[in-house]
Amino acid sequence: MAGVFDITVTGGFCAAHRLPAHAGACAHVHGHNFAVTATLAASELPEPLEPNEPAEPSKPGKPGKPGKPGAAGESGMVMDFLDLKAILDSVLCELDHKDLNALPEFQNAPPTAELLARHIFRRIKAALGATPASHTTPGAPGMTIAPVRLLRVEVRETKDFAAGYSED
Ligand SMILES: [Zn+2]
Repeated sequence: MAGVFDITVTGGFCAAHRLPAHAGACAHVHGHNFAVTATLAASELPEPLEPNEPAEPSKPGKPGKPGKPGAAGESGMVMDFLDLKAILDSVLCELDHKDLNALPEFQNAPPTAELLARHIFRRIKAALGATPASHTTPGAPGMTIAPVRLLRVEVRETKDFAAGYSED
């Protein structure tokens, strides 16, 4: 069976929400320090350079080896942690210190941890590119690195309660 690599980064945001249909205290406005993790997977990684292998020029017929030394595509990474962290932070920034119920995305659905996870998942997926089979790294525009797919987003309200979202 083929192996799968994955990386996970964590971020957070502070926000208020209320769950009108909830029978308990969650129906009232309250806040959380939400903790969010995003996990990205790749079934294969671009081959790292051999120690004595010249970085330039790139070798034709070897996709994933763009021939730029020090690039994520050559270093055996699913994606540079910092690149995924930047994407996650930019998505979470849109939610930080907001009344989640007032956001357009939650006019017809309550901002539960589950639906927040789906919203964040879709925003990250869009940021990664419309084609999940390949993407470019923000740190080196135009360079294709490992074919990746967003595996899961988890939204944690407290240390005991978390919800996740993924897609087949
Ligand atoms: Zn809550």
